[in-house]
Amino acid sequence: MDQIKIEHLEVYAHHGVFPQETEKGQIFVIDAVLYTELRAAGMADELALSTNYGEVCHFIDDYLRKNTFLLIEAAAEHLTKELLLHFPLIKHLVLEIRKPHAPINLPFSSVSVKIERGWKKAYLGIGSNLGDKQALIEKGIEGLKGNSMIRDVKCSKIITTSPYGGVEQDDFLNAAIELKTLLTPYELLSFLHELEAEAGRERKVHWGPRTLDLDILFYQDFLSNDPALTVPHPDMENRQFVLEPLNELCPWYLNPVTGKNVRQMYLELVQNRDRNDEQEDVR
Ligand code: ATP
Ligand code: CA
Ligand code: CA
Repeated sequence: MDQIKIEHLEVYAHHGVFPQETEKGQIFVIDAVLYTELRAAGMADELALSTNYGEVCHFIDDYLRKNTFLLIEAAAEHLTKELLLHFPLIKHLVLEIRKPHAPINLPFSSVSVKIERGWKKAYLGIGSNLGDKQALIEKGIEGLKGNSMIRDVKCSKIITTSPYGGVEQDDFLNAAIELKTLLTPYELLSFLHELEAEAGRERKVHWGPRTLDLDILFYQDFLSNDPALTVPHPDMENRQFVLEPLNELCPWYLNPVTGKNVRQMYLELVQNRDRNDEQEDVR
């Protein structure tokens, strides 16, 4: 991806663990690589289509002077988040904060932290089969949209499906959601649990009735087999209520575990179901 680079921006600020650092202050040196698409701005010769690097430099200078952190780790973490929220064309960025005058009492040229942060694309499944299902799903989606660390929320159409997993219960409404987020996978999961709790979700029977269920289906290139967060969602291949709406949003998205794209998984599931139905009819 295209880059805008800022090298050796000097900011006089007051971050540090020692009192003399917060009182007197010192020079911090910032390097940043902003990943963004520059084609449109380049073709049109139009600043409004790019990210103004002057504004970015002043934003960094202002932020680091107005806020005081003990650690440059914290300064970098908060600053990258604010940059990504404030400059929408930056997709991800690498930021290094150096401290050439850190109080170490040894000869050295500088110490630094360097982090990479950015917007990650994730797909969620959303479902409800208890209470005012439609309203609960809409409220869940509003909850996602209301989090500043989440943006570009797109929802598939909402479909009605029969319950899954053998428990006698009411039909479900299900949909799939695409979004971009600055939350890590585990942070996203705990936010989804908050939204479920707000919808009055109680966990009684596994696969039992629920006011709201939000599952992470894919999260960028994140892979995990932790039972507390398994991604991609392990059972998606067997679930029409997941694959049908997901196929509407991202038919070509590859499940890195099976090597199959969403459309292929969906068509195979539908064909298997039709074949099984035919065998039932023959019997
Ligand atoms: P299923 O995950 O088979 O659809 P469920 O949604 O009914 O079942 P829940 O009771 O909602 O299951 O969740 C049980 C636990 O599953 C959660 O507490 C969570 O830690 C864990 N979990 C594992 N992987 C995921 C994932 N990809 N998305 C959401 N929760 C997950
Ligand atoms: Ca689920
Ligand atoms: Ca769940």
